[in-house]
Amino acid sequence: MPTSICPECDEEVYVDAEIEQGDHVSCDECQSDLVVVGLDPIELDLREDSDDDDYSGDEDDYGSRDYDDDRL
Ligand SMILES: [Zn+2]
Repeated sequence: MPTSICPECDEEVYVDAEIEQGDHVSCDECQSDLVVVGLDPIELDLREDSDDDDYSGDEDDYGSRDYDDDRL
């Protein structure tokens, strides 16, 4: 079974052998929702827009901007 690296926690993620670009997988380690962005090698990215979900955790954007405040 092919594997890739989770961009969130750097752990190996097992993906289906017939996965295609744009498919979604979940990291077993951190439960992140990942999207396949490349196939050779398999490359995963965090899935950032959840428009087609009812997932209500929109606070995700928040943490990544913490450090901008220092640049005054
Ligand atoms: Zn992970």
